Amino acid sequence: MTNWKPPIPIEPYPSESLGGFLIRYCETNGWPSYHHFIRLLGLSLSDVRYQKGDLRDIERKLNMGPRTLPTSGSRQGMAPGFLGGEILSRDHFHGQRRVCRRCLAETGYQRSYWELRFITRCHLHGETLQAECGCGEPLRWTDTSLSACPKCLSAVPQSVRTHSEPARPFQEWCLFKLGLIQSNHSLPQLDDLTLLDAIRAVEAVGLLETFGYGANKPSDTSYDAVDVREAGFAVIREDRIAAALALVVSRYRKRTGVLCPRRPAEALGWFGTFILNGWRHGQTLLLKSIVRSLSEALGYPVKNPEISSYVSLLEVARVAGRRVEELESGVEELGFGDITLRIGTELLIPVERIYDLRTHIGEW
Ligand SMILES: [Zn+2]
Ligand SMILES: [Zn+2]
Repeated sequence: MTNWKPPIPIEPYPSESLGGFLIRYCETNGWPSYHHFIRLLGLSLSDVRYQKGDLRDIERKLNMGPRTLPTSGSRQGMAPGFLGGEILSRDHFHGQRRVCRRCLAETGYQRSYWELRFITRCHLHGETLQAECGCGEPLRWTDTSLSACPKCLSAVPQSVRTHSEPARPFQEWCLFKLGLIQSNHSLPQLDDLTLLDAIRAVEAVGLLETFGYGANKPSDTSYDAVDVREAGFAVIREDRIAAALALVVSRYRKRTGVLCPRRPAEALGWFGTFILNGWRHGQTLLLKSIVRSLSEALGYPVKNPEISSYVSLLEVARVAGRRVEELESGVEELGFGDITLRIGTELLIPVERIYDLRTHIGEW
């Protein structure tokens, strides 16, 4: 290894993947076997796949110029899961090499974001990323050419059936978040989240929009995450959260007969649990807007999704063992008219006034 000097050094492109860069290096220098090339570098395939080695060491061995490898690895140790300053888990990387054949034909290099599982479409050409040539031959990280197919000898992978895929604005937001595209995809309610939190939030909103109220979250296998995330992103971008929550709350009320749940988030089923977990970890713009929408849907102000601020007199009557008419006249005598709310036939009072009512009417 110490005496090896690569004959033709090449420079990486911005957002080129390390695996793709090494294939291109191998191709440029005419190495007949990728394995041989990787061994010469003193690496193993899993070092490259999981980016375990030291980037600077590879840069030195490749005799690279002042520009350094732009990869999906961190600068130290190349731990998988770093891209554009975002921490990603290994699960978010697609094991297989995927490409947009048109990008490849036009520019001749492998993009780092093609490795991301949540990116399925080329934002430039509108085609689904493909993991095999149209002849059926899979694309591999051990290929000695980025474009040419070893089986059918096509210069660029052949098209697989029809690859046109509908626009994926959320995927474009992800690329924007990763600093990979500059266009105007900013969405304030998501911009203050980490990429992974944003993916989780958008998916949850999409599930709520798709399936409505449910005590349990739909299982991962019962939906297509790509479509659901796009649906959730559209709801947030088009400001339709309030409408989505209104449907869910009305379904909850019909099922349970409860007007003011003890914890307002309960009216949202499993989505409420999702909100509560987030709320305890910090109130992001998105969470605040969801809680605002929950207020609208419930018809009374919610400051904290964990604590109900209002209670129905019907509920108080049930707990206190009093008649609701008795409580209603108590509320009137106390002059609480301004602070009560009416939803349908029921009268609501702020929770903190129950004590006054109890004192006024007599212990219960
Ligand atoms: Zn493309
Ligand atoms: Zn082929």
